[in-house]
Amino acid sequence: MKKITILGATGSIGIGALDVVAKNPKKFKVVALTAGGNIKELARQIALFKPSVAACATKQAAGELKRLTGNSRTRILYGASGIEEAAASPRADIVLSAISGAAGLKPTLAAIEAGKTIALANKETLVAAGQIVTRRAKKKKVMILPVDSEHSAIFQCLSGQKKNLLKRLILTASGGPFYNLTQAGLKKVTVAQALRHPRWKMGKKITVDSASLMNKGLEVIEARWLFDVDISRIDVLIHPQSVVHSLVEMIDGSVLAQLGIADMRIAIAYALAYPQRIQNDLPALDLSKEGRLDFYPPDLRRFPCLELAFEAGRRGGAVPAVMNAANEIAVGAFLEEKIRFVDLPDIIARVMSRCPAVKNPSLADVLAADGEARRQANQAIEQMKRG
Ligand code: NDP
Repeated sequence: MKKITILGATGSIGIGALDVVAKNPKKFKVVALTAGGNIKELARQIALFKPSVAACATKQAAGELKRLTGNSRTRILYGASGIEEAAASPRADIVLSAISGAAGLKPTLAAIEAGKTIALANKETLVAAGQIVTRRAKKKKVMILPVDSEHSAIFQCLSGQKKNLLKRLILTASGGPFYNLTQAGLKKVTVAQALRHPRWKMGKKITVDSASLMNKGLEVIEARWLFDVDISRIDVLIHPQSVVHSLVEMIDGSVLAQLGIADMRIAIAYALAYPQRIQNDLPALDLSKEGRLDFYPPDLRRFPCLELAFEAGRRGGAVPAVMNAANEIAVGAFLEEKIRFVDLPDIIARVMSRCPAVKNPSLADVLAADGEARRQANQAIEQMKRG
């Protein structure tokens, strides 16, 4: 029986993971859950899974949670320190890191420091502080298992392969809802349209990132750290059917791929059960119904966020953290209809251009760069609104 902590339990990945747990009660037991502000959902989960510990973002939310959970035995914590304490909860074997955004960084580091295996969905953790996180994981002899479907695919393809025989990684991208729009069309897209992803059901931030292709850019940097491969050896292919989840090319020209339906519970269950595989009741992939699989190179001119991420990855240091923070602020402003979809890359590029070069940043450097980038992004948004 594996004991699991879920950070970001009330989100799309967290709920998917709890579904996997509920369907495999003999294999998994939940010991800690964390959320931000969705207390009703967290209270429902506490009643169902009876974790020893639960944590939420604020004292006020914790008060409400205590009221909703009545005399449950679950210890309730709150605030950043409460979430980090839950992340390091001694009873867990594995911690699913599924908070969205850079808010997931410190709890993930706390879990690593506590020696827990990490099932990583929160890609922003590796984007902001890939070197720090992978170094600490190595020092603590902690495995980081990918949950992102592309990285899970690569991880599976590389299993049993010698690292020096790998030529390049090829991440696939659905292209999102706007891939066939012209530049003029992109200027008019609405928030509701951006939130309608053609293939995957996900949280709002990652759905907008998928529409702008920033999600793929974040994944390029995530792959760089997860698999210790230089950015120059990572490519992206648009694949609208989202059947081939990613590929690896070996030095002899063999290309290995992992295929499956677009349901995150497969990658979540793979990471949680690793090195085993578990059965599920999801529909099987039927390639005869799929009919055709298309692949083409990404259009970086219409989707500059992907190019910005490649640039951040190449520049390294604190630049990816800056890009990630600027993107989080810009996506938030887009969701609040303060800026247009096409303004996203402009804001990110503006903040990145002012970013000082910090080589081998410490955690404090990364957090400072993140804070400064957020301030500058907010300033750029205000300037944009004033015209
Ligand atoms: P959601 O927005 O659906 O969920 C985010 C979770 O994080 C919620 O539980 C939310 O709590 C919690 N949270 C957000 N901010 C904070 C904070 N400051 N402190 C504490 N908790 C917080 O996101 P997803 O599940 O879609 O994505 C989660 C992560 O997984 C992201 O990094 C994403 O890129 C990655 N990922 C997601 C995929 C997907 O299919 N959804 C696929 C691959 C990767 P609450 O709602 O209670 O406020």
